[in-house]
Amino acid sequence: MFSEGLSYDDVLLLPGYSEVLPKDCNIQTMLCSGINLNIPVISAAMDTVTEEKFAIAIALEGGAGVIHRNLSPDEQAAQVANVKRFLNWIIDSPVTVPQNAHVSDVRQLVLKHGISGLPVVDNNGILKGIITNRDLRFCKDDSLSVTDVMTNELVVVTGEPTVDKAMEKFYEYRIEKLPVVDKDGKLTGLITVTDMEKHENFPNAAIDKSGRLLVGAAISPQDYSIRLPLLIKAKVDFVVIDTAHGDSKNVIEAVRKIKKEFDIPVIGGNVATREGTKNLIKAGADAVKIGIGPGSICTTRVIAGIGVPQFTAVLECAEEAAKSNIPVIADGGIKFSGDITKAIGAGANVVMIGNLFAGLKESPGSEIIFDGRIYKEYRGMGSMGALADGAGDRYQIGKDEEPVPEGIEGRVPYKGELRSYMNQLVAGLRKGMGYCGCSTIEELKKYRKFVKITASGLRESHPHDVQITQEAPNYSRQ
Ligand code: IMP
Repeated sequence: MFSEGLSYDDVLLLPGYSEVLPKDCNIQTMLCSGINLNIPVISAAMDTVTEEKFAIAIALEGGAGVIHRNLSPDEQAAQVANVKRFLNWIIDSPVTVPQNAHVSDVRQLVLKHGISGLPVVDNNGILKGIITNRDLRFCKDDSLSVTDVMTNELVVVTGEPTVDKAMEKFYEYRIEKLPVVDKDGKLTGLITVTDMEKHENFPNAAIDKSGRLLVGAAISPQDYSIRLPLLIKAKVDFVVIDTAHGDSKNVIEAVRKIKKEFDIPVIGGNVATREGTKNLIKAGADAVKIGIGPGSICTTRVIAGIGVPQFTAVLECAEEAAKSNIPVIADGGIKFSGDITKAIGAGANVVMIGNLFAGLKESPGSEIIFDGRIYKEYRGMGSMGALADGAGDRYQIGKDEEPVPEGIEGRVPYKGELRSYMNQLVAGLRKGMGYCGCSTIEELKKYRKFVKITASGLRESHPHDVQITQEAPNYSRQ
């Protein structure tokens, strides 16, 4: 039996009457129940794309990174913890000093933790004062008790403060540290002006309820019982079951068991059919990741002869998932910002990107100079190199088996910092929404007006009959 499979290049969204300006479009989206992103983009769980530096950069812009699993469980969890610490809006277990401590103890704590202010608490955790660098600077006698030196007139916030409420206090009292207390005066947290400034600089950051950056991590059916407890302790927001064939017994069972044993959102994948989507949703997946073979470094379709062109895969899987109100993520094959518009038009809530991000400054791949140009390394997780570094179980290859790769190793042009590149990607999506008259991601998902194009239509879509003399920041043929 045959059916038709289309890729992003085979279709265009039909422009339609619009009153929507690109800048006014709301591109917030739901990654899965309880987790919202400010831009519909996550980065691939690949060892040349997402480690902590990239995950921080993308979450600051409103998306999220998925830390790859070619790292030991401890290393991966440590990276998650570093992302969660980066934008500590409220430090929930601040370092404190007891009332009976001396100035010398405080100096030691300041040195050890690299911090500049410590709340002083009694035996019951009740806040009594705060001792900061300002108090220490003019104190010549280190044997003094902290209660002689600390600031007693405290400015505090109670309960669960909002960013605005905290900001008001910082401005009104010109302080640098703001303790958070409960109704009995017990210390529950600490807010610092430096962290508030980070929030101000990145107003679009994707954050959790406590104001920390969102981050995900890749796990597998084989290693989840080791990785998950560490990741959850590190406060990971969601996990991705990172496999090449999600519609298989071990992945479906892993989703079922994780949902039963742990309290964490799980994205299942990858699948490319209605049936596969249904199976993962039935097992309890909070979102389903779509893509068998569209990846730029992927050879699965030619090596194994299987797959579904990505536009059709997203369209059909999203239709299936919509019946259960479960979001889908379009993973792989995004070559230009317009493909993001098409993927969401096909029903995806979010796209996952590898290639376009691998050349950015924040990605972990090493820089390569070739023919006078800078490139960065980009390789498939099923390539010989990544398999040798431990990614075999993604492709059901045992440790002692001869590797049969499903991906290649290569390089992509260096593109500079994520922030300006992401602005270009997002601006392309906004333009597409403006052309279709869709002001939200949900409206674009429901738009569903496409035209199928021919090879000459595709040729006409790209610049043609001209030699490009100046590369644009959002268009490159490599
Ligand atoms: P890209 O953005 O088109 O480069 O696609 C990235 C996606 O390709 C990833 O998120 C994975 O789903 C997939 N992928 C990563 N490594 C491999 C591989 O070695 N073989 C097949 N697919 C891969």
